Amino acid sequence: MIALVTGAGSGIGAAIAERLAQDGHTVAVNDLSLGHAQTTVDRITAAGGQARAFAADVSDEAAVTQMLTDVTQSLGAPQILVNNAGFAHQAPFLEIATADFDRIFAVHVRGTFLVTRACLPAMLDAGHGIVVNIASQLGQIGGVELVHYAGAKAAIIGMTKSLAREMSAKGVRINAVAPGPINTPLVEALSEDWKTAKRAELPLGRFGEASEIGGVVSFLCSDDAALFVGQTLGPNSGDVML
Ligand code: NAP
Repeated sequence: MIALVTGAGSGIGAAIAERLAQDGHTVAVNDLSLGHAQTTVDRITAAGGQARAFAADVSDEAAVTQMLTDVTQSLGAPQILVNNAGFAHQAPFLEIATADFDRIFAVHVRGTFLVTRACLPAMLDAGHGIVVNIASQLGQIGGVELVHYAGAKAAIIGMTKSLAREMSAKGVRINAVAPGPINTPLVEALSEDWKTAKRAELPLGRFGEASEIGGVVSFLCSDDAALFVGQTLGPNSGDVML
């Protein structure tokens, strides 16, 4: 199938793109930076997979529309969409600038909305589609100095459930993944105090690797996950047990 993975020039998104290519899918690798997307594409093609790079800011409606046109013309309409693009910003609540709050919601929430809305018509026409939204366990339990980030990730979980209720009978299966801390540049940027305290409270005693999230997304995109609808899977080192 054709799989579009957003924010796949780094970290979790890159690992998801590589895993989906290993699974035999042709991957449209999106990132803000064409160069970062191309780096992922180069790794995929070096390993024998099929992929192509597409730059777009997922929060920019015109850019998303253009990206879907380009992906569809060059590869075909995506039947798998992984909404992964995102970034973290940490600040005490009273120091969160309105612009930082708006940007977090623009990329995570508006971006997930725009890219999903752009992909769904072709999925509905085909009577088949798979959407995986990358949330965060912080959207389930909250995080200190992460009110805007955790709020955006909680919104993504709510959107996942609502869209799953609306679309599942039409052949589009939608789920979320809420990772715990994963070793990527995003987590590297968080404070050392936060990372030390978080590692100490994890039952598994370690952060995850991006490839371990790739495996979870691979499962959700497989027929083995046919009964998973509107779920939020938690690869989180035991930090959240539901
Ligand atoms: P990362 O290594 O920083 O990668 C994020 C990628 O998203 C980067 O390639 C970045 O592009 C891209 N991106 C950012 N804003 C974008 C936009 N507006 N449009 C398109 N692409 C954009 O971070 P990560 O840890 O892999 O995070 C991936 C996702 O997992 C995020 O949604 C994050 O919230 C979520 N998550 C991460 C963790 C964790 O512990 N790492 C845990 C739970 C959830 P550039 O580099 O070109 O700017």
